[in-house]
Amino acid sequence: MAKTLVITNQKGGVGKTTTAVNLAASLAACEQRVLLVDLDPQGNATMGSGVNKGQLRQSVYHVLLGTAQVAQARQRSQQGGYDVLPANRELGGAEIELVDLAERETRLKAALAAIADDYDFILIDCPPALNLLTLNGLVAADRVMIPMQCEYFALEGLTDLVNTLRKVRAGLNPQIEIEGLLRTMYDPRSTLAQQVAVQLKQHFGDKVYSVVIPRNVRLAEAPSHGLPALVYDKSSKGAQAYLALAQEMLEKQPAAVA
Ligand code: ATP
Ligand code: MG
Repeated sequence: MAKTLVITNQKGGVGKTTTAVNLAASLAACEQRVLLVDLDPQGNATMGSGVNKGQLRQSVYHVLLGTAQVAQARQRSQQGGYDVLPANRELGGAEIELVDLAERETRLKAALAAIADDYDFILIDCPPALNLLTLNGLVAADRVMIPMQCEYFALEGLTDLVNTLRKVRAGLNPQIEIEGLLRTMYDPRSTLAQQVAVQLKQHFGDKVYSVVIPRNVRLAEAPSHGLPALVYDKSSKGAQAYLALAQEMLEKQPAAVA
């Protein structure tokens, strides 16, 4: 039975997709069976995994609308060593089309249940919004991972997300918990970043991963080659940081390793 993690933050450009792709590859390198679900019409996690979003016969869009099974729509990231349930701009229409359908918030959860035994981890990459797509991600997940940049407004956005989580917990998914906050694009020379990093620790304690993802150009370059950084440049600081994150996660949940 897979552990399902939704990677979300309604703030744009905080490193959600970079985290999704590189954590998927790092967990795969640790011999975990991983499915990466791209829930963003931008399709960046799809492309970053080496799957061409322009040539999808079936995608997460069809899965949400009930016209395809996950088992049919998933593809292999050959280089990454994990599976991808891909997305492209078609998914943008799903929000409107789902509104009239029954159980519109639980469709991803229901679809993933059929393949949960194929994986150790299912990672879900969300769009930068608290919309129906993200809600499907939150309802399908056991745990939430929140990537954030250590800057002043980061904390403000967190309040909205925590409020949304509270509502999800009160209604559609009582089990959901925060797995961890991940500090991304960290620049140790910035005094503000240091201050915010400390504030986060004070507020959330051990919910903050000890691994910090540094700002690293290799992480930004890798997606244009359709590769996780671990394959593009294994020795880069960015790739090594995500590998360390995977190890930290696995150490915290020995049950998932067995
Ligand atoms: P969106 O909200 O649009 O989905 P996102 O939260 O998924 O964005 P990413 O796409 O992962 O964020 O990252 C935003 C940009 O920053 C990308 O160009 C990415 O390559 C770059 N980036 C992410 N993490 C790092 C890092 N640690 N070091 C350097 N560049 C990074
Ligand atoms: Mg993204």
